[in-house]
Amino acid sequence: MTDPRSRIPSIDTLLARPEAEGLADRYGRERTVNALREAVDFVRENVSGGVRDSAAGDGDGRLLVDVVEEPMLYIQRAQASLAISDVPSLRRVINGTGVVLHTNLGRAPLAPVAVEAMRAAAGEYSNLEFDLDEGVRGSRYTHCVSLLTELTGAADALVVNNAAGALVLALNTVAGKGGGVAVSRGELVEIGGGFRIPEVLERAGARLVEVGSTNRTRAADYASALADDDVRAVLKVHRSNFRITGFTEDVDVAGLVTLTRDAGVPLVHDLGSGLMVEAQRLGLPHEPRAMESLAAGADVVVFSGDKLLGGPQAGILVGSARWMATMRKNPLCRALRMDKVGLAGLEATLRLYRDPERAQREIPTLRMLAEDADSLKARAEALVAAATVRSAKLSSVMRVVPTLGAVGGGTYPGAELDSWAVELMSEAGPDALATRLRDGDPPVVGRIVEDVLRLDLRTVLPGQEEDLVRRIVECIG
Ligand SMILES: *Cc1c(COP(=O)(O)O)cnc(C)c1O
Repeated sequence: MTDPRSRIPSIDTLLARPEAEGLADRYGRERTVNALREAVDFVRENVSGGVRDSAAGDGDGRLLVDVVEEPMLYIQRAQASLAISDVPSLRRVINGTGVVLHTNLGRAPLAPVAVEAMRAAAGEYSNLEFDLDEGVRGSRYTHCVSLLTELTGAADALVVNNAAGALVLALNTVAGKGGGVAVSRGELVEIGGGFRIPEVLERAGARLVEVGSTNRTRAADYASALADDDVRAVLKVHRSNFRITGFTEDVDVAGLVTLTRDAGVPLVHDLGSGLMVEAQRLGLPHEPRAMESLAAGADVVVFSGDKLLGGPQAGILVGSARWMATMRKNPLCRALRMDKVGLAGLEATLRLYRDPERAQREIPTLRMLAEDADSLKARAEALVAAATVRSAKLSSVMRVVPTLGAVGGGTYPGAELDSWAVELMSEAGPDALATRLRDGDPPVVGRIVEDVLRLDLRTVLPGQEEDLVRRIVECIG
């Protein structure tokens, strides 16, 4: 019997096939040749071992030894590996978790006008650092400033890459080298991903001066810290991702302003979320906003662009003209600078806030938060109806149920959003179903509640229903 390896076609024979030419057109000749070589190598190593051809996509496949001379064996393997290597790393995902600002899923999806502004800024030249009136060099730090001052009442504003960076910049600027920054022990928090206030402060070059206790910090505690000559600022951190209850006391922004003005040092307020409309409009409990903090006298307020503001990733600083100017001159500002695409998206998002009703209609984060339960229930029912049209047997494994979502993004700890979900039952169990839903295009991410997989309609964006139905049919139809 001859060695089956002698029946393996040559690379040239394979390349002469029209299917291989198609691959070369699509993926390039060099990648196609490499993929065919890998297929040939695989077959050469496995042809005698009773291994089956599984890349052909026909279940267990045939024994390699029986099909070793067929060119399509190699071309199909090459095609499969080329297709896999072309799947982008960063992909769009359908969020069925009901967590609106899901940090792992990219936080805020953007308003169409913001997406359009970003597309234009990305694909064309812009006046990013060019003064169109004078025809001379301008500054990227001028963009978004007038909108931010108009919307928050601040004297000046500065936009950098993200809020964590904005906080580092603010602390480094107000404290200088080794200067003390007073922070309540109740606010020495971890914001997320290991970003802890004491460490951030240290990295910013400042010295932490702890004030009060975990549950109670009084004005007198700040006053005694401020008696230390080397305390150059007070930092207040909004407890955005946890709550403390019971025997508690702290000092509000107005109370801190009285103390910091007396001491002649600035008050930095890290707000985190960047909510720009009244929380009540969204059916949520009160959450401090930048305008309130500034009105109470804070000197520098820090917040995020992609949390409750609903814009692109950005760190926004608003406050006094003096501190904004000093921060702009800090070399760290250059290291943290915002890119043109983000600036364009942020500007378009901020512009929507000139009309809060329009903001609520067009900014997906706000619209999702405000969507009422009846509308979500109707959407869940429509989804089930659309799926059962495709595959009648789905009616017995899909169910519309009330559920609870969350705001997410480290905001509104403990707040629950009354919502409606579609439950998907699968004999394989919820974990296997969740894996199957993630493994497809687009991936769908749900949440397992009481051992059943749920897709909460609140975070399914308009226009995604068709894809979602197709994926459900693929997985359990
Ligand atoms: C989220 C958060 C930050 C960090 O914001 P990013 O935009 O994620 O960098 C800082 N401070 C507080 C209080 C936050 O909640």
